[in-house]
Amino acid sequence: MLLPKQCVAEAGRHPHLVGHFVRHQIHRLLTITSMELKDLTTDSSRLSERIVIAQLAAGVLDYAAAMSAGKTFRLPYPPNLQLALDRLTMVAWQQNAEPPSNVVELLQLAARPFESWPIRLSDADVDPGETLLAYGRPSVTCEELGGLGGDVAAEMRQNALMLAVMDKTRAAGAPDSYVAFRRLLIERPAITALGLDARLADPELAVVADELRLAYPEAPPEARADGIVRTCGGCNGLRLPLDDDRTWVCEDYSCPAPGTPGPDHSAAEGVHWLRRELRTFVTGPGRAELRIAEAIEAMGVPVQLWPDFDSCDLAVFADRPWVADIKAWRNPTRLGRALRERMFRVPPEAEKAYIVIGSEQVRMHPRYVAVLRRACPALKPGKRVTAVAEKQFLDAVRREVEARR
Ligand SMILES: [Zn+2]
Repeated sequence: MLLPKQCVAEAGRHPHLVGHFVRHQIHRLLTITSMELKDLTTDSSRLSERIVIAQLAAGVLDYAAAMSAGKTFRLPYPPNLQLALDRLTMVAWQQNAEPPSNVVELLQLAARPFESWPIRLSDADVDPGETLLAYGRPSVTCEELGGLGGDVAAEMRQNALMLAVMDKTRAAGAPDSYVAFRRLLIERPAITALGLDARLADPELAVVADELRLAYPEAPPEARADGIVRTCGGCNGLRLPLDDDRTWVCEDYSCPAPGTPGPDHSAAEGVHWLRRELRTFVTGPGRAELRIAEAIEAMGVPVQLWPDFDSCDLAVFADRPWVADIKAWRNPTRLGRALRERMFRVPPEAEKAYIVIGSEQVRMHPRYVAVLRRACPALKPGKRVTAVAEKQFLDAVRREVEARR
């Protein structure tokens, strides 16, 4: 950046003013940039808030990945984090708010609920109580905002490991192996070394043994204390110690019973924990998928999980099937945006198609479906794909079962 000559001369006489001049110049540049942006978009400042938060979330994920790679973290910080700091600083200045002055402060901000930020984020698709970091680790909000920009199914297709599982099981003509793999990830986010060996010996899973090993690295050191690894009885994942080393928490926000202790394992026997992105995108939503499938099975009609290698989450009825994609996004506006960009492909033979919102989400956000339909009008009743809550979906299936008898 070029400072006008007299500014430089002035700054030379008053070194403490340099920061002020630089800031003034950047502010001027910013004003120009936002004016230019206005030509391109209808509302540049709102656009930037959403993008800045997405970039910050991506940066937090990159940073967490670098930290957990086991090596000592080295500068520089991930580019997304650095860029997010620069852009957030610009947003703060536009609002005359105080920006975080470095990456450390930025990460402290990421651990605070958005409502307490000094910077307003009016169009950032976030709820006031959400945070990007929870217990020092990226939150689900962070995953939804940062990694993926798309929906779970899209993420699954981009995830190298799930892609390999899909390719291998498809090549082997083994849809049951695909279903078994996915079911294991949902039912057992944590597993002992012995338990993992048993699964590897299971003929159904043998075709994806390599992927199974990759999916389940050893539990990280922070999951152990006094040589013990503690599990969660609610989700079969791990409970991690807080800083006080006395409180143990399940970090799965959609865990059905986070306070319930599961069995303890000695660290020496070896415990494996499903990779974080798979816990978020397979395990969390998967619990609702299994629960809904079981409820439909109990009605005595055929239901298929992830039919045709995951063309949707489930299909009910053998002919004129009803298909459903089950969504466990925390935030309906973010889900609506993702669906606006990419709706799931409804097979032509399907009689009806649904986006089903799990009970956990509806419980946390009672107006979830209404907000989602407003964010994505293609989901209103009467459209090809309708958004409904889990309970409404099961009621509709039950009525259809009666009607078809
Ligand atoms: Zn749990």
